[in-house]
Amino acid sequence: MQNNEINHQPGCEDELNIGLLTVAEAQIRILDGVSAITATETLSIRDALGRVLAENIVSPIDVPSHTNSAMDGYALRAADLPADGVRSYPVPGTSWAGRPWLTPVEPGQAIQIMTGGMMPAGADTVVMQEQVEREGASVRIGTGHKRGQNVRAAGEDIATGQSVMTAGKCMTAADIGVLASLGLGEISVYRRLKVAFFSTGDELRAVGESLAPGEIHDSNRYTLYGMLKKLDVEIIDMGVVRDRRELVEQAFEEAAASADAIITSGGVSVGEADFVKETLEKLGSMSFWKIAMKPGRPVTFGHLNDAVFFGLPGNPVSVMVTFFQFVRTALLKMSGATDAVGAYTVRARTLTALRKRPGRFEFQRGVLEQAEPGEFSVRSVGAQGSGILRSMSEANCFILLQPDQVSIEAGQEVLVQPFQNLI
Ligand code: AMP
Ligand code: MG
Repeated sequence: MQNNEINHQPGCEDELNIGLLTVAEAQIRILDGVSAITATETLSIRDALGRVLAENIVSPIDVPSHTNSAMDGYALRAADLPADGVRSYPVPGTSWAGRPWLTPVEPGQAIQIMTGGMMPAGADTVVMQEQVEREGASVRIGTGHKRGQNVRAAGEDIATGQSVMTAGKCMTAADIGVLASLGLGEISVYRRLKVAFFSTGDELRAVGESLAPGEIHDSNRYTLYGMLKKLDVEIIDMGVVRDRRELVEQAFEEAAASADAIITSGGVSVGEADFVKETLEKLGSMSFWKIAMKPGRPVTFGHLNDAVFFGLPGNPVSVMVTFFQFVRTALLKMSGATDAVGAYTVRARTLTALRKRPGRFEFQRGVLEQAEPGEFSVRSVGAQGSGILRSMSEANCFILLQPDQVSIEAGQEVLVQPFQNLI
């Protein structure tokens, strides 16, 4: 979780921003204000891909379950290896992968063995096929071999009783592969988080509808849908709620009855048609609403009955930025995830000058490119208005500009937070 936190120096707000919460404080308060769900369900390991493990996994078996050969070759007793010269060994049979040679190896014998084939009793060393000379029913082996070579011990990957994974892990392809290697077909995972969301605004029209003067299409419900899809939560899309006190209250109650988390966009300013903050104060509890950041200043966080409430700003870029910086990590914690991947930061040289006002954290949209292996450059996508959603579409990262930073010239290093594949 820590990865997603933004470090910054407090105490350098300009006059306008006095009394505003810093981004880091807001992140901490939000994380402290949410807790993980406890309900679980049992799923087949394939269905559990991407879900959060709700139990500790202890291995019921050794992996591999038998000592076996790492090479195609000949298994023998190390004591029989020639000290000098070349020695000939009769080969009475073959240990195939899955079809072991069950007779113990007698002194002086070698058993042909395939990769993964079980080591025959008595043998402790394998000589690679490429290093022997086969002669009818026997094999000639020279010097230069070591006791125990090319042998994989039972339990060397995972031993019986060994702790393999702990609750809170997000199941990856490797994880379900490991579970399969243990022979486990089903595991317990936390149930999916239910997240309800709606847009507020009299000006909003659905896609496909034509616009009357002053109207716009509702895009926030699409960006939110997309970002929630990435988190594998159960999505409850409640549509558009008009700017009327009763309708907003009704939507709040409906959402709280069915969801673990509620996300709204718009209506959190102090405009006359902004009912979100007021409704949260009336029906639930409100924690804060102004953060020294751009874009995305008015953000509301609180609780409504048992649900956690995130009131995001209306501007399309602000929605995406505040979701990424605050909501995403909180939803991951609520999902039970303890190893959730936050957003990493990297240093990159900016190819463009960046305009910045001191006193607030700015999340400018940029394009991060690998200049050379391990060396990154970033350029601004251009206009940074909070209504210019195209800036998010063209970008693959946030350029993180700390409150105390001022405008930056081209060629300087900046901190960048890639978001490709995360939202
Ligand atoms: P508000 O916070 O409600 O005052 O909205 C701030 C700005 O965001 C206004 O220009 C709104 O028209 C715009 N906006 C609000 N909701 C949406 C939405 N769902 N899709 C696109 N723009 C929106
Ligand atoms: Mg509005």
